[in-house]
Amino acid sequence: MTRDATQPNLAVGVVGAGTMGRGIAQVAATGGCTVKLYDAKEGAATEAVEFVSRMLKRAVEKGRMEAADADAATARLKLVDAVSGFNDCDVVIEAVIEDMEIKCKVFAEIEAVIAEDAVLATNTSSLSVTGIASACSRPERVAGFHFFNPVPLMPLVEVISGVKTEDWVTDFLVDLGIRMGRQPLRVADAPGFLVNQVGRGYTIEAAHLVSEGVADFVDVDRIMRDAAGFRTGPFELLDLTALDVTHPATVEIYEQYFHEPRFRPSALMNTRMQAGLLGRKVGQGFYVYEDGKQVVPEEAAPPKFDGGKFWVSRALADAHDALAEIVRSAGGELDTGERPADDSVILVTPLGDDATAAAVEQALDATRTLAVDVLFGLDTRRSLMKTPLTTPEATRAAHAVLAADGVPVTVLRDSPGFVAQRIVAMIVNIGASVAQQGIATPEDIDKAVKLGLNYPHGPLGFGDALGADKVLRVLEGLHRQYGDPRYRPNPWIRRRAQLGVSLLTAES
Ligand code: NAD
Repeated sequence: MTRDATQPNLAVGVVGAGTMGRGIAQVAATGGCTVKLYDAKEGAATEAVEFVSRMLKRAVEKGRMEAADADAATARLKLVDAVSGFNDCDVVIEAVIEDMEIKCKVFAEIEAVIAEDAVLATNTSSLSVTGIASACSRPERVAGFHFFNPVPLMPLVEVISGVKTEDWVTDFLVDLGIRMGRQPLRVADAPGFLVNQVGRGYTIEAAHLVSEGVADFVDVDRIMRDAAGFRTGPFELLDLTALDVTHPATVEIYEQYFHEPRFRPSALMNTRMQAGLLGRKVGQGFYVYEDGKQVVPEEAAPPKFDGGKFWVSRALADAHDALAEIVRSAGGELDTGERPADDSVILVTPLGDDATAAAVEQALDATRTLAVDVLFGLDTRRSLMKTPLTTPEATRAAHAVLAADGVPVTVLRDSPGFVAQRIVAMIVNIGASVAQQGIATPEDIDKAVKLGLNYPHGPLGFGDALGADKVLRVLEGLHRQYGDPRYRPNPWIRRRAQLGVSLLTAES
């Protein structure tokens, strides 16, 4: 290794002073580096320096930083008016717009002026690091350095090795990331790297569910927040990140994976993007924003419980007992017969099957059958799913009995895996595929996803929490029902479920 990221006079170039470039400049300056900032747009770099200076002042006001440290960091920010100003930089971090041609041109210009052993890093979120590196004369010193927005608040940085990247370059960037106060994780180059690849599972599956008419987007958000424990629903998230950023990145990942069905983009996202419903930044996406505040349609009150008889399937013993208790506590009559009586509403608890398949498999009357998702517990929000034949009376009675204790209930159209089973199984499956490809270690996969996406668990830990065998069943059910290779379970999950070990178990 020829460059030392810990040396006091480290000079960091940042090209592109937009949202990401200014955040990167801020954390580099607070990490004690001299930062040289360049942007092709007149005045943009000056504006960025002013912005960072304001952010540092605010950190002082909030007591997060000493005034002298903020002043010193601000003094380390320098403007350069051409790429040639990077000539003495140890490393240049590129954060220009997400366009392969432009990035390659920028890298060629920088390579012409920097030292032979200076490092070149790209903050691209979806383009191939290897592809960008291959346009350079020395691809071995090029790597990905992928920060998350807003940079000063998001600790993760993915350090991505292209096929030809030399180890000293990624070692250097790991040290630099630490110096910038980040938590760097090593990731091999792959479409969407690690975090953006796993993140596709959440938003695309949610969009496919809505396209199929299983639920509307508000209900999907409610289920994923309340039942599955995500901080932000998938559609709120799409509004925040903006469809004109997320959808093209999804298409890019899908194309780079040669149409791997797990990443198949959503037509719904595409048409809404074309309509300009981009999200929060334009005042309307899936939600409407008034004065910057999300307008959430109010949830309808549940029907009042006025009695009824309920038969609960014993296919899952624990689930039977929990649902039987809910019925009893509500004051409902529990039908304890081997088979349901003619006037009982029937509750089934499938994993990966839809209500129709569960009714047919257990030879139950589909007009009185409803399915309840028990995989995420029954304490916070309950998902209730109808067959195409379930009568409104049976739906009303089941809705009322499940909502009698005040826990909200969402009624869904038939779907193998309801909403939460299906979306989380996709996230686990993609996480397993990342592990199978050796893009990162199992521990780093979970750490990166928790840090980068704020999910309640990493994908592999989520699978363990639910049970790898159960996630496998959900995926098998989805695969069987749709006949779509999108849902084929990754062998990483199947093998660990068969062996009864954690999904975090690495290859020996
Ligand atoms: P942005 O549009 O806010 O900023 C891009 C800046 O690059 C602009 O100021 C523009 O004037 C400048 N620029 C364009 N062409 C240039 C050139 N040839 N030379 C110098 N400057 C040039 O974009 P952003 O959101 O900061 O994204 C920058 C990069 O970071 C992209 O590759 C993006 O994929 C990636 N990224 C973005 C996010 C995010 O959430 N915004 C997160 C991670 C990574």
